[in-house]
Amino acid sequence: MTSAPLHFHDRIEKSLHNPVLQAALDRNAERRIAGRNQRFGEMAAAEAVRDRGRAIRIETISRLDHYLEQFTANIERNGGHVHWAADAAEARQIILGLVRAAAPERPAVVAKSKSMVSEEIHLNPALEEAGVQVVETDLGEFIVQLRGETPSHIITPAVHLTRDDVSALFHERFGMAPTRDVEQMTAVARRELRQVYFRADVGITGVNFGVAETGTVAIVTNEGNADLTKDVPRVHIALMGLERLVPTLTDLELMLRLLPRSATAQKASSYVSLVNGPRRPGEPDGAEEFHLVLVDNGRSAALGSELAEALLCIRCGACLNVCPVFREIGGHGYGAVYSGPIGSVVSPALFGAAFNELANASTLCGACRDICPVRIDIPAMLLAVRARHVQAGQPPAWLAWGLKAWAMGLQAPALYHAAQWAAGLGSPLLAREGYIRRLPPPLDAWTGRRDFPVFARETFRQRWQKRRQPTDGGH
Ligand code: SF4
Repeated sequence: MTSAPLHFHDRIEKSLHNPVLQAALDRNAERRIAGRNQRFGEMAAAEAVRDRGRAIRIETISRLDHYLEQFTANIERNGGHVHWAADAAEARQIILGLVRAAAPERPAVVAKSKSMVSEEIHLNPALEEAGVQVVETDLGEFIVQLRGETPSHIITPAVHLTRDDVSALFHERFGMAPTRDVEQMTAVARRELRQVYFRADVGITGVNFGVAETGTVAIVTNEGNADLTKDVPRVHIALMGLERLVPTLTDLELMLRLLPRSATAQKASSYVSLVNGPRRPGEPDGAEEFHLVLVDNGRSAALGSELAEALLCIRCGACLNVCPVFREIGGHGYGAVYSGPIGSVVSPALFGAAFNELANASTLCGACRDICPVRIDIPAMLLAVRARHVQAGQPPAWLAWGLKAWAMGLQAPALYHAAQWAAGLGSPLLAREGYIRRLPPPLDAWTGRRDFPVFARETFRQRWQKRRQPTDGGH
């Protein structure tokens, strides 16, 4: 879902009062960041590799029309079919048509591997509504699907859950004896999923990178589930945001060094599949039909905007792990498919002004920019989104009036001094032990989590003058 029923602040509040979530997020972030730093520390000329990665993405995005033309022509030459979807509705319609055509006589079964674009276009609910059985085959996605949830992290969809949560879920759904043994739980999931591949009429996968010069689709996993998803069913549909290209196979090789190190602290992902169209005569595996669905859904519009740099993203999730806000509220706190720092830019860029307020949930510490493998300047774009938010008149009236009054006070010295005097006199009345611990709404949003020091009775200027007087008198 791109929106949640709760207001943003209520979702934040809910997350902050969930100690299990906080512990899970901290564990995940610390492990991922330490691992990522170690991997980049070991890599020769790591900073130069990151620079090169950024240059490749900039080159791709700045000549996207050229590379898309080359990519799609090569896909078709390789025997694949290319479908262009302007928006989410069109993408759903195309995929539903392909799925129905693959099983015209009965309700179709779809095996699906991880794809954030499929979340973005709300594919599963649309397919299920049409009577299609969809089964997520990535373990984390399988778990969140069983719970009726959406992924809470780009890379680790079930990061918000503990092993006890999963054990209870598998006990309820599959009769598994309660356990804390992850291997045992994985074996149950494997048993359930294996049969799905053989029943599936269609396999739907995401795409990590498309290679323009060859028409190759690269899919990266650590579980091998994408390979079974794309190879066993008769039809393979690959779903891709149209910005996820690189010009050459050499560029892909570099990206495949950056992505696993940033995402999962691995030197290489366990499975990297390169799909060059449908199975050819004499080949032992692969789908008989290969379809690529290229989704725009706001990307072309973002290209010409101040948020275009967000299209460089390779969805590694490192900026989520390092973000102090994400570490407190988790992915579901954002109420958007794409969460964390990059989600606070991508969501307004792709889905519109309703998501502008996400950019306020940032300390602007810059950690996301520092860790990003392709050095995306996320803080600069967060400020741009905040500016949009203000210009659209979305801040609450009390804040707008408060800022106006503040500006007036700053421009009129007499008013400013009067306000200082009043605050110095009045604020101690609200304080305990030198700090104001609670203010009335809407200012309680500040004091709910922080104490506010009382205003000084004397201004700095008054104290300075006092200090100088005896000295001056002595001369
Ligand atoms: S913005 Fe950078 S760090 Fe964040 S997910 Fe994208 S590539 Fe990774």
